[in-house]
Amino acid sequence: MKVLIVEDDEDVVDTITLAFQVGWPGIELVSSSGGQKAVEMAESEAPNLIILDIGLPDISGFEVLRRVRTFSNVPIIILTVMNEENDIIKGLEWGADDYVTKPFRKMELLARVKAVLRRRSPTSEESPVVCGLLRYEPSTYRFFYSGKEIFLTVTEANILLSLMKKVNQVVSNSSLAIEVWGDDYEGATDSLKVHIRHLREKLEVDPSSPKLIITKPRVGYSLVIPT
Ligand code: CA
Repeated sequence: MKVLIVEDDEDVVDTITLAFQVGWPGIELVSSSGGQKAVEMAESEAPNLIILDIGLPDISGFEVLRRVRTFSNVPIIILTVMNEENDIIKGLEWGADDYVTKPFRKMELLARVKAVLRRRSPTSEESPVVCGLLRYEPSTYRFFYSGKEIFLTVTEANILLSLMKKVNQVVSNSSLAIEVWGDDYEGATDSLKVHIRHLREKLEVDPSSPKLIITKPRVGYSLVIPT
């Protein structure tokens, strides 16, 4: 297991390193203080997870996200400064799986990391999950729609799978957050909205008028059996 830390503030790198040494010894840590190098390392080091600061000296963390997402669906947790709501939303928009706001507690960071890595393998099922024209192959973590592969981030995959398991039922925001993140944290409903929009862009004929993933206002979402 290998984690890539992308952060130019040495104190924060030290804090993260210490958190892992105490809470998860044995994990391999590599780091980069620059964004450009981080993109290269995301490829050459093939990390299992990336912890990504947004404010970097060369290119922004958002740009790192964008570039990494062109070749990898590695789970990415962004580090944002407290109260930067726009950074959080933008990070999720650009393909981050989760976020932690600075300053953070060591245990909080580790809990987030563990949650993200746990949902790396959405199910332990052996047989494919089939739902109308949607099909999930657990052996390869791949999704197909009408026989065509659809490329999803880890979080999108976990949300879709949660909805597929309860097709035609309403899944509440809270239970979806617990299923996907292991925690119905403050802001989870807003994060869900962004991920759901991405899913619709990948699945719906007209994402502005969804026919598959239906919003149940103030309650949650429902997957209508895809035909
Ligand atoms: Ca920084």
